Amino acid sequence: MGNTRGKGLSLARRLYKSRVFGLLLGLMCVSVAMYPLDPPLWVWSLMLFNGLVWPHLAFQWARRSSIPYRAEHRNLLIDAIMGGFWVAAMQFNPLPTATTVSMMAMNNVAIGGGRFLLAGTAAQLLGVGVGLVVFMPAFIPATSPLQLYACLPLLLLYPLALGWICFRQADTLGRHKRELLALSRTDSLTGLLNHGAWKDQLDLAFQRCKRQQQGAAIALIDIDHFKAINDTYGHVAGDIVLRQLSKLLKQNLRATDVAGRYGGDEFCVILPELPLFNAAQAMEALRERFAVLGYEQNPALKVSLSIGLAAYDPSHADATRWLDDADQALYEAKASGRNRVICNSDSKPRQAVLDSV
Ligand code: GH3
Ligand code: MG
Repeated sequence: MGNTRGKGLSLARRLYKSRVFGLLLGLMCVSVAMYPLDPPLWVWSLMLFNGLVWPHLAFQWARRSSIPYRAEHRNLLIDAIMGGFWVAAMQFNPLPTATTVSMMAMNNVAIGGGRFLLAGTAAQLLGVGVGLVVFMPAFIPATSPLQLYACLPLLLLYPLALGWICFRQADTLGRHKRELLALSRTDSLTGLLNHGAWKDQLDLAFQRCKRQQQGAAIALIDIDHFKAINDTYGHVAGDIVLRQLSKLLKQNLRATDVAGRYGGDEFCVILPELPLFNAAQAMEALRERFAVLGYEQNPALKVSLSIGLAAYDPSHADATRWLDDADQALYEAKASGRNRVICNSDSKPRQAVLDSV
């Protein structure tokens, strides 16, 4: 409900600016068309009210309403009725009439699409009907040069202003879409890629390796006995450890490496164009730094990592097979005592390349 009100208020604000501008230019166009008809004082007053006071009144009305969106729709229908009324009052003088009708149609389509164009047209016809009842039905077949010039500002400037407003809106929407997309791909705790986004990158890396016959390695990194850290020091401390590891990954990997949070206390990295031995060295360095960092912060807190590594293999049917290899290596690292890096360059587990224990 709060969000709906917020959206309604932002619509009211947008319409406020365009209404102030459009009706000021409209006043110029209509008043010059009305002048030769020598209208009574109340018509002049209504014209001035519509052009100068109504935009502010409409905004305040929508702003104070409990549902500003609905209030703005009502205001737009009042705009349309008034527009129709002035068309009849101007005795259908061709150019001011066409200008008024087309500007209103443009406004209605921009705000509410075909449905609102229809509702606005119906309201305009109602306004024309009221105008015909109030004024003598008459038709002025020609627009004078002065009346033509008085219509020009509205004709030239209003589409520009409305186009600008629509562009700004589309631009903001595009930015929000990009931000949402980035959010949907990011793990909120660590700022790394989330599971789905990392898997997408893995598929891309797999295709790249296949196409370009390149090598690459992937690593699955799991914190040892993380549950015990949570149980002993609490989940907040656990979260800090997770953030520390992600920070360490960001600081120690190359710009081309792709790190993600696979889930829980498990992280994943793609190391493109890196032979398995070098990848193992890089992961070994990471394992050591993480242990030192943990010790520096709390000597009682023993944090260590188990890491499973797998090289790209052209015989892999897909990226999942590659991931399976890394998973197998991680399993081996856990089973053989934790706190180590284990490689699996083909489908069978191999001995530890760099065994730290
Ligand atoms: P192992 O050495 O075999 O990996 O043991 P482990 O305790 O690390 O493994 P396990 O998978 O049993 O525990 C992972 C724990 O991580 C369980 C879960 O409560 C915790 N966890 C998952 N996500 C989060 C998180 O976002 N924050 C915190 N603090 N804990 C999390
Ligand atoms: Mg774990």
